[in-house]
Order: sequence, then structure tokens, then C-alpha cells
Amino acid sequence: MAPRYDAVVVGAGFGGMGAGIQLDRLGLSDYVILERENDLGGTWHVNHYPGLAVDIASVTYSYSFEPNPYWSRLFAPGAELKKYAAHVADKYGLRRRMRFGVVVDGARWDVDQEHWVVTLAGGETITGRYLLTATGFLSQPYTPPFPGIESFAGKIIHTTAWEDDFDLTGRKAAVIGTGATAVQLVPEAAAKVAELTVFQRTPIWVVPKVDVPIPAAVQKLFARVPAAQKAARMVNTSLLEAVMVLGVLHFDRARPLNRAAGLLAKAHLRVQVRDKEIRRKLTPHYDFGCKRPTFSNSYFAVFNRPDVRLETESIDHIEADGIVTADGRKTEIDTLILATGFDLWDVNFPAIEIIGRDGRDLGKWWRDNRFQAYEGITVPEFPNFLSLNSPYSYSGLSYFTTIEAQMKHMGRLFGEMRRRGAQTFEVSEAANARFLAEVTERLGSSVFYAGDCSTARSYYFNPHGEAALLRPNSTVSTHRRAVGFPLADYTFGSGAETPARSA
Ligand code: NAP
Repeated sequence: MAPRYDAVVVGAGFGGMGAGIQLDRLGLSDYVILERENDLGGTWHVNHYPGLAVDIASVTYSYSFEPNPYWSRLFAPGAELKKYAAHVADKYGLRRRMRFGVVVDGARWDVDQEHWVVTLAGGETITGRYLLTATGFLSQPYTPPFPGIESFAGKIIHTTAWEDDFDLTGRKAAVIGTGATAVQLVPEAAAKVAELTVFQRTPIWVVPKVDVPIPAAVQKLFARVPAAQKAARMVNTSLLEAVMVLGVLHFDRARPLNRAAGLLAKAHLRVQVRDKEIRRKLTPHYDFGCKRPTFSNSYFAVFNRPDVRLETESIDHIEADGIVTADGRKTEIDTLILATGFDLWDVNFPAIEIIGRDGRDLGKWWRDNRFQAYEGITVPEFPNFLSLNSPYSYSGLSYFTTIEAQMKHMGRLFGEMRRRGAQTFEVSEAANARFLAEVTERLGSSVFYAGDCSTARSYYFNPHGEAALLRPNSTVSTHRRAVGFPLADYTFGSGAETPARSA
């Protein structure tokens, strides 16, 4: 029985949209994109807390084939990213393929029919020859199980569920968390509330943000001469690449560069915060890069304000009117803002249940063995499956470098399928093992293993202590591999029978 769709894509963020665009280019145009939210844009739809903006310059944080000349700033505000996503969806005809408000429960490979059966909450099933999951890395909000949180009588708001009409004016608020989200939100909140307490467990490296409005004349130039924006993208992308490759991946050979970044952040802190004790508390004790560093010109300075307090004592429990710390003190609040981030490793790899050949459960297999995926995209025993948010898939600093490398991988893989008249593909165990050994070896020289990350509490590390998120390659080499990986790493089948297995 033929499947209903050529492909089922899960997730209508930038990853899923890139996959859709590539499926169209490859002639696999009968696909559906399933999205649990009520609109497209992924993280840029879900997140709209005050202060949200990109932290990778917008010339780079966008599809290379769809430049937007009209970014208002070097680092565009979140709303512009959402607008850009809508523009891309309309221009590339993606919206008509999208189904919103659809929660996918799981997917199972039907070995006889050689297609994927995708089950939606509510019981409906959808079949597709190929399954592509683009469910994001940071898409499962995390609320720590603070004892007593359910008894809190005031307003609780997680940054991923911001209510735009919620007014912070005059509130006695607490922000829990000091990650990239808090660094953007705290200055905005401080400007409105009557009192703000920021609960910090682990300090974060913060470097200055070189952000300026893009004048209308430059926007016009980018619109009229796309090569000018391309050149700006190339310069910015090369800088990011140097930071990533030298500062993070080749930490063992470029320690001084990494130290220089730490010194810059410390100097920034010194200039911005008057109180020595507060400066001490805001200084991280792990190497720069262990955790994603942040950019802000206004975060540190907030702690000079008399109405803002940094609390570093650990949280014991929450009561109806406040937060009680381990030393027994209570901070009275009426508003609790949870900037506590996302659950990556427990519920997001994979985000839905995925059952491959012989009943292999991807989540269980990853946990019983190691988190792994060939080239960060395919997994043995999971035919016709592209896992776009896999372990070791994130390459470079801008997510778009990962998305476009994966689009290229799709191009080579499906191009070969067409050449052979094949209907199924599956990566071999041997190729997957080779890739895992390679990334494991390369990571040895990264800041994650050669540096000191012991106190970072970084989500780059999984519960086994493995830094299994980032791919330890330059983006140039990731892209080269995407267009040149050995085709023999895959087995292909005609659709009439199971593909022959590699040794
Ligand atoms: P995050 O980096 O995971 O930060 C979560 C914060 O909550 C951390 O400070 C964490 O402390 C704290 N926390 C968690 N559980 C806690 C507990 N039980 N008690 C006390 N504190 C607790 O999440 P995020 O700030 O949302 O950022 C996640 C990622 O999203 C960023 O790294 C970045 O990649 C992306 N992001 C990007 C942008 C942008 O570019 N525009 C903006 C925001 C976010 P510990 O560190 O001690 O665990």
C-alpha cells in the first residue's frame, strides 16, 4: 500500500521549513509539516518575552539563499525573526503543507509497507515514505520541581509562555535562572518592576554586544546589491567560525584566545558593576565556552540598581508569598518568572517516540548505548528517517549552518536514491560507528574535555557527562562532508524488499 505522503516532517521551525524547501527541490513535493503550536516559526513563535533578540548577527542567522535586506539592527529583535519565518513560508509555498495544533505522539517504521506510520495525539495516523523530525533542541520548557511551587499565590510565568498583556509594572518579582534568556529579560523586567531578585545558581559569561541599528541606506544597498549583504555575511560567519573552531573546538591549541574572551567578559563586568562582592558572585569559575556565552550591554549594570538584588543562596522551597533559600531567608514576591530553560536530555532526544526496525526504540537505544547519529542526521535500523536535531548535529554557532548542511546531505542522499530508482535508505552500523569514534576523538581537544567545565552545569553535556550536542568540526568541513560523504555508508532498497545490510 502506498503511503499517503512522500514525507512527514515534524516541526515548523526553521529546521522543518528548510527540510520542506529541500524536499520540493528534490521533487518530493507531496509532504506534510506537522506542528504542535498554532503557527510556524518554532522557537521564534514560542518565545516572545521582553528583550528577545538574536545573539548571532542577522546577516548570518538566516537562510543563505533567502537573505533579508531589511533587518532593523545588527542583532534583530525576536519579532523580526518570526516575520522572516512567515515570509519564507509564504514565498516557498510551505504554509499550505503545514498542519498546526497537531501533537505527534510517535512514529513507527512499518517493515512490510516500508513506510513510516505517524501517530497523532487523538489516534489519527498518517503514513509517509520518509520521516524527518525537526523538533528543535530547545523546545521542551523546563520547570524545576521546587518544593511548594504549587502553593505560590502570585503569578508564575515561564519565559516560553510569556503573556504579552502581562504588566510587570510595580511588581515584586523574582527571576530564577541566569542563562541567555534571563540575560535578555532581566534588564527589561528591572525597568518596570518595583523590586527584582535574580536567583543565580551558576554565573554566566557575558561579553559586550556590538549592536547598532542598520540605517535605511544600508538596507537599500543590501536590497539592490545582494552581493554586499553576502559579503557582510561572509565576514561575520568567518569571525564566528574562528571563535568556534579556535576558542571551543581546538581549545588545547588556542587557550590564549579562550582566555582573552574570558578577560573581555571580566573587564566588561568590572566596568559595569561597582560592588566588588557582586562582581565576585557574577564571575564564572569554568572556562569560557563550556556553556553558551551571552552578549549584553545592559545585564550586568542592572545589579547596580537599589531595587535589584542578586541572590546566590540555593532555593530550598517556595511558599505562597515568596522563595525561601537554604539559609532560611524568605524573599517576598508576587511574581515568579522562570527563566529556567529547557529539558534537552531527558525528554528531547528524541522529542517523540520513534520505533525503527525490529522494534528498536530510538530514545531507549540512545540511552542504553550512547547518544549518536551518523553525520548528526541518520541512525542505523531507522530506514528512511532523518533526525535533524540529533546528537552531534549542531555545527557552528548559527543554527542555519546546521540546517543548510543537512539540506545538502538530503540533496546527496535523495539524489543517489533517484539515480538508483531506490525507495529506501539506511545508514550502516559501520559508518555510524566510524562517525561516533571520529567525533569522540575530536572532542578530546575541545574546551568540553581539555578545559575546565566541572562547575558549568552546561546543557551541552548529557547526564553521562558526554558533550554530545555540538559537532566538533568546522562548518566548512561539515558542509564539505554533506556533499561528499561516502554513498557506500548507506544501503539502498528498491522498495520491494528490505535493503541489503552492510557488514
Ligand atoms: P539555560 O541556559 O538552560 O538557563 C537556565 C537557567 O535556569 C540556568 O541559569 C540554570 O542554572 C537555571 N536553573 C535551572 N534549574 C534551576 C534550579 N533548580 N535552581 C536554580 N536555577 C536553576 O536556558 P535559557 O536561558 O533559556 O537559554 C537556553 C539557550 O537558548 C541558550 O543557551 C541559547 O542557546 C538559547 N537562547 C538564545 C537566545 C538568543 O539568541 N536570542 C536567547 C535566549 C536563549 P544552572 O546554570 O545552575 O543550571
